Amino acid sequence: MKIHEYQAKELFKRHGVPIPRGEVASTPEEARAIAEQLGGTKWVIKAQIHAGGRGKGGGVKLADSLDEVTSKAQAILGMTLITPQTGPEGRVVKKVLVGEAIPIAQELYAAILFDRTQACPILIASAAGGVEIEEVAKVSPEKIIRIPIDIRSGLQSYEARKAAFDLGLSGKTALKAASLLSALYQVYIREDASLVEVNPLIVTESGEVLALDAKMTIDDNALYRHPDVVAYRDLDEEEPLEIEASKFDLNYIKLDGNVGCMVNGAGLAMATMDIIKLAGGDPANFLDVGGGASVERVAAAFRILMSDPNVKAVLINIFGGIVRCDRVAGGVIQALEQVKVDLPVVVRLEGTNAAEAAKMLEDAPIQFGVARSLEDAASMVTRALKN
Ligand code: GDP
Ligand code: MN
Repeated sequence: MKIHEYQAKELFKRHGVPIPRGEVASTPEEARAIAEQLGGTKWVIKAQIHAGGRGKGGGVKLADSLDEVTSKAQAILGMTLITPQTGPEGRVVKKVLVGEAIPIAQELYAAILFDRTQACPILIASAAGGVEIEEVAKVSPEKIIRIPIDIRSGLQSYEARKAAFDLGLSGKTALKAASLLSALYQVYIREDASLVEVNPLIVTESGEVLALDAKMTIDDNALYRHPDVVAYRDLDEEEPLEIEASKFDLNYIKLDGNVGCMVNGAGLAMATMDIIKLAGGDPANFLDVGGGASVERVAAAFRILMSDPNVKAVLINIFGGIVRCDRVAGGVIQALEQVKVDLPVVVRLEGTNAAEAAKMLEDAPIQFGVARSLEDAASMVTRALKN
């Protein structure tokens, strides 16, 4: 689960990662009141959306007066912010973070994430902050510091200090940076994050080291032990069909194609998407209905597929291992009595009682394309698209 910058900064604060002072606002008046409360003469107003690159898109603005805080908050709130990470449709801004603007001496980069190759968390840092790390990795990979972390002992102080020195820092600044990195590891491990990213991590003109930006992804499998983090969930940032699917425990990811897929098991769902592509089609989604494929779930899955206007044909590919194929066929037929589906539906059922299932589908009042193999199913569904 992704969370907003202001929420990530609350977690940072809890674990001792220094951040600039600031509060979140939903109206220009609130923004102004926050700025007044913070004091000072310069403030920063930052759009809160689950995507980076806000600065480039016009979602981060500096203000020199309280009137400017009001007008800039007004401009950002309600805007459709388009950044390289939002896609062309952009995201509507509902909240802004109002913070004290900090004079920056240096912009660095730091992140902790899970390295699947080495099977451990890894600290990634770079002296080239404020820019896209992917770009740094491509152009000058030698500028990226990587420290794999032993999960049993955590990030050691000497490792954090080495990272700080390798970033080119020295003296007290290096020690402050090292202590920030250690605290960042605490955020990562204590909050069960899969990613904690600070870009930029700054050295201020007065030699302080602060996390100016904060990006965090929490491991969904660990959310049960973080009710406070679950409360951070922002449904406005999620795909409505995916929210609907999660209510039925359906594993659904919307894609851009036109073949709706209903499959049991993640591996088979992936293989189905591949084979649709191979046959010249384009999957509209990833959808794992789970082992049982009950009537309720299949009906819910149909409703979700039918709410996507791009879907022009449906491919059901279910392996009857745990559940018998005839049961699944019965479920599909029953579900289609509940949900109106006026698109071609191709069904491929394999496993126990597959022959009985095929007969049931052929005899059903609804017209199905009954496929005998996976290749057959994929070519049937892509042909159906053309009719
Ligand atoms: P992102 O574009 O979504 O990654 O948002 P950031 O939080 O990283 O902000 C973008 C840029 O705005 C930063 O790289 C900074 O250069 C600038 N910025 C943000 N906050 C401040 C601030 O308090 N003072 C100054 N001078 N610049 C800031
Ligand atoms: Mn940033």
